[in-house]
Amino acid sequence: MIALKFGGTSVANAQNIKLVIDIVNQKAKSDKLAVVVSALSGVTDMLINASKKAASKDESYKNSIEEIKQKHFDAIGDLVESVNQNQLLIRINSQINQLQTLLDGCFLLGELSPRTADAIAGFGELLSSQIIATALQQTIPNSNFKDSREIIKTNSNFGKAAVDFDLTNKLISDYFSTNKSQVVVLPGFIANDENGNTTTLGRGGSDYTAAIIANGIHAESLEIWTDVNGMYTANPKIVKQAQPIESISYQEAMELSHFGAKVLYPPTIQPVLKANIPIWIKNTFEPNAFGTLISNQNEVGLNPIKGISHIDNIALITLEGSGMIGVAGSSKRLFEVLSQNAINVIFITQASSEHSICVGILNHDAEKAKLAIDSAFEIEIAQGKIDSCSVEKDLCIVALVGENMKNHQGLSGKMFSTLGKNNVNIRAIAQGASERNISVVINEKDVKKALNTLHERFFEDNTKQLNLFVMGVGNVGEKFIDQIHQQKKFLKENLKINVRVIALSNSKKMVFNEEGIDLKDWKNAIENGENTNVDEFISRAKELNLRNSIFVDITANYDVASIYEQFLKQSIAVVTCNKIACSSQYNNYKNLKSLSRKYNAPFLFETNVGAGLPIIDTLKNLIASGDKVNRINAVLSGSLNFIFNNFSETYSFHDVVKEAGLQGFTEPDPKIDLSGIDVARKILILIRESGNMMEMEDIVNNCFLPEECMNTTNNDDFFASLIKHSSHFEQLLADAKANDSRLKFVASFNQGKASVGLQQIPKESPFYNLEGKDNIVEFYTDRYIDQPLIIKGAGAGAAVTASGIFADVIRIGNV
Ligand code: ADP
Ligand code: ASP
Ligand code: MG
Repeated sequence: MIALKFGGTSVANAQNIKLVIDIVNQKAKSDKLAVVVSALSGVTDMLINASKKAASKDESYKNSIEEIKQKHFDAIGDLVESVNQNQLLIRINSQINQLQTLLDGCFLLGELSPRTADAIAGFGELLSSQIIATALQQTIPNSNFKDSREIIKTNSNFGKAAVDFDLTNKLISDYFSTNKSQVVVLPGFIANDENGNTTTLGRGGSDYTAAIIANGIHAESLEIWTDVNGMYTANPKIVKQAQPIESISYQEAMELSHFGAKVLYPPTIQPVLKANIPIWIKNTFEPNAFGTLISNQNEVGLNPIKGISHIDNIALITLEGSGMIGVAGSSKRLFEVLSQNAINVIFITQASSEHSICVGILNHDAEKAKLAIDSAFEIEIAQGKIDSCSVEKDLCIVALVGENMKNHQGLSGKMFSTLGKNNVNIRAIAQGASERNISVVINEKDVKKALNTLHERFFEDNTKQLNLFVMGVGNVGEKFIDQIHQQKKFLKENLKINVRVIALSNSKKMVFNEEGIDLKDWKNAIENGENTNVDEFISRAKELNLRNSIFVDITANYDVASIYEQFLKQSIAVVTCNKIACSSQYNNYKNLKSLSRKYNAPFLFETNVGAGLPIIDTLKNLIASGDKVNRINAVLSGSLNFIFNNFSETYSFHDVVKEAGLQGFTEPDPKIDLSGIDVARKILILIRESGNMMEMEDIVNNCFLPEECMNTTNNDDFFASLIKHSSHFEQLLADAKANDSRLKFVASFNQGKASVGLQQIPKESPFYNLEGKDNIVEFYTDRYIDQPLIIKGAGAGAAVTASGIFADVIRIGNV
């Protein structure tokens, strides 16, 4: 015989029940079956809510009765042929009348005893099982209904009654050994106490009913049919990358379910484990999927971790004080108090100093527990030997589970560092003596991030997901997104980095998608997005709380440069090509760097100097390896280089500057380039990255623009002033030619002093032949004394800048 159990979603409505009937028809061809069913999805909740409403004199419980009635009548209409309907409708109707009488009673008395609560809650299974049994009889005439209450006997602990296995096993065995039916359908969840009252086995208890029956009939196997393809490596509703586990031991499955894997009600395993009956978890909606086999054969795979699970709504109670040290029995008293008050302890840690003990319980038990504990330790508290116990709510337990964990060192270290890197604060830690699990208590708001990061770390072949929040989709931004789109597959396969763009924003519109924006269609997405609101952008990024979040600033905007701090403080990395922050007040630059360290959030700005050229990264490596920068000479403006390389007697200064703007080589405001400010910012950043403290005002700017050009306030006036002063520029060119030199805008740092300005560069200089929009930097250091370390290449342009930003993002992925 086989025992099968179909859960709430599997029997949610007539359509789903038809799938169940197909599965049962198929199985019944070769085996006798005991089929346990849950209530139609949501009905148990409705019943419990209705009883609470009735007891609190809220008449709307009557609507719930109507709704429940309608749900079941609809199912009958769709599943049962008209000739068979009448009798069933009469039976169901009479039971709904009984339900109504019970609820009316609660309403009149304004109270709900545990006994009545169970009687009401059990109606869901009672109704569903009779309907399914009748529907099945149409295809399997030799099938029958049996009320589980007649064969499962419990104590009177209503809400979660304990089974009397001796009596129950005998009753089950007697019934099935004489019963000739091919299929017997039974309600899950409900049983009877010795007085004949209905009891329930705890929420989710239909799994347990099926296990009790499986044990009683010595079933070949127990099949739990649900709405997912088995027991997963983590809850598939929260961790998209979770995978079904093909085979798992009873102990591991028990541990996972104890720590919240709802797919299996924890007590289910006990009865079948003793009888060594394998459990299959199968999907009603994908019956051909393999599912999960739970048995005593533990396949030791390469991964010592089998799964990750979690329990929400946890409160931590801490009892501490010097009075606990060396005093035998404090913990015993604590647990006794909790037990006397029927408070379930889910998690325990005790500091080895015995100075404090910490237990995890459900949120809703927290107040009751505090009152009880404080009163039990009243004397010690009054004497100041123990503090009144502290309660911290809205926490969550996350557990790593695996039989083989005991044979592997360093798993807990990996777990903690993975969480730490993502700024998930761990409140308490416990490792079971069996070493089959390590569990941590964290804040509930971090649970999704924690589960996903841990899953990534332990199951996804080290694939790292990076979640980008991008601001600025102009020339460079557009190229950046295209590059991500193009490289996505390569990165995933070769570097094990999965890049997703979660948010995109320009100055007008922004769009968010937690699953990642479709980069094929990003322009459309942003156009149809909501109006840009920077505060909202920041708070959404915080709220989403995704692991490995990166804010990418591809603007040249002051306001955007001022929000990095808010991201870094949330452990969100910042990648920027915007130079404003790093060239602002030294204190601000320093603060951002130290926040980055404190919150473990990279702050990268390689493209601030030399676009895609690896200048800052090289500098960082020099410094990190103990070198010291003494002198820097550099041509750092691709725009100015382009301008002075093309400016000639036949190509006027004004026209070249215009052309540079059109080709995207200058800032939107070309004066920022021509005035030397942009170059001054860059050398300032290099100086700071070399470990020196310097402010913008300390840099001497030998400006070559006439004062009138400098004083203009808009682009039109600026260009007009370039025409007006054309002879000034022509003279600069003529002077250089006369000296057989070329004009280059050079930045230098020497002996603690820095300057920027136009210089005549003679033929012998490596700067002389700098073509197009190239940049060059010479670092003279303790190690590079006579011959500098030179970095040279394209230093401006949207594509190279975008690839520089991209490289920063990948650097974070490789950390
Ligand atoms: P049923 O109504 O069939 O008893 P449940 O809702 O009780 O189904 O259990 C199935 C659900 O358990 C899944 O839909 C999933 O959301 C949740 N779940 C939590 N953790 C896991 C896990 N590790 N593997 C599979 N499902 C899980
Ligand atoms: N219907 C019950 C519940 O919702 C039992 C079950 O479905 O397993 O808790
Ligand atoms: Mg369930």
